[in-house]
Amino acid sequence: MTDCIYNFSAGPAVLPESVLQQASTDLHSLNDSGIGVLEHSHRSSEITEVFSQAKENCRNLADIPSDYEILFLQGGASSQFFMIPMNLLQSDKTADYINTGAWSQKAIKEASMISTVHIAGSSESSKFDCIPTQLTFSKKPQYVHFTSNNTIYGTQWQHLPQIPSESTLVCDASSDLFSRPINVASHGIIYAGAQKNLGPAGVTMVIIKNNLIDLGPTNIPTMLQYRTHVKANSMYNTPPVFCIYVVGLVLQWAIRFGGLIELQKYNEAKATMLYDFLDNSDFYTSPVKKDSRSMMNICFKTSSEALDAAFIAEARNKGLSGLKGHRSVGGMRASVYNAFPEEGVSELIEFMKSFEKSH
Ligand SMILES: *Cc1c(COP(=O)(O)O)cnc(C)c1O
Repeated sequence: MTDCIYNFSAGPAVLPESVLQQASTDLHSLNDSGIGVLEHSHRSSEITEVFSQAKENCRNLADIPSDYEILFLQGGASSQFFMIPMNLLQSDKTADYINTGAWSQKAIKEASMISTVHIAGSSESSKFDCIPTQLTFSKKPQYVHFTSNNTIYGTQWQHLPQIPSESTLVCDASSDLFSRPINVASHGIIYAGAQKNLGPAGVTMVIIKNNLIDLGPTNIPTMLQYRTHVKANSMYNTPPVFCIYVVGLVLQWAIRFGGLIELQKYNEAKATMLYDFLDNSDFYTSPVKKDSRSMMNICFKTSSEALDAAFIAEARNKGLSGLKGHRSVGGMRASVYNAFPEEGVSELIEFMKSFEKSH
């Protein structure tokens, strides 16, 4: 074992070192209160302050307009797959979905239980190796849903999809939220499970425009109505306090880093380094079309599954962890979220060179 491990995990994933250090101090006593962050009541002034700080940092970092609410919910991004249609989609209306692979498909499955789903575009015929360019919308979609970054296939939208003007854009940004500047005002809802780019597993961030909050029916379970959580400031029931606290620290870190423009530069530098290496290699290939490549999850493979398996095992021994591709696609995947250090990408490339030589 080497002493320094680079964690390429797709999620839960690497967090900034300074965040972990602050969290370990606050485990014992939050802000000199003598009580650890895990042990405070969620109604205490200390935790109320943690919540409002987290929201404020979020608003500042991403320039979120004042007519949007920021919610911290439970149930993962996967619960938004049904909460969104339950609140936004009337049973006689249609929602349009763009299918870029596994996560989009799960969202489509849930929405189909509520009402009609129209597939406005799909890259399924080319095994999700790109972002679809041909979009055909239904007549009056109540909203259009897309997945900004497909974590599994390593594809990412380079610009927002153009949608019919009267419709609302809904984005699953679980694996790239705050990795680059985002135009919040072009969206109705943006949601993300925190465990990739924002913090620990257990909390889901939902950024929702005010005019959508009260659209939903009132005869669905209380916890599934957005209005419940807006009214209660994400404290209708006991919230995942620790997760929200860590998300708050990560947002503070992101602001200190220089904000979304600086993070984008850093992420682009990391991703470009690896893609350039792949493009100049005869040994490794990237399965994703160039104009659709993700800055967050970089997929690649060698010429055989056996060699891929050897690569993953040897890399692990060299302190390069979490490089196994998703079980549904195989190969390798390097997830290089905001907090992933540039040195880790250089180390990976050095390892790739030496692996190529020895095989
Ligand atoms: C991981 C992921 C999800 C699922 O998130 P959970 O919080 O585990 O439900 C959804 N969408 C995308 C794009 C993801 O990467």
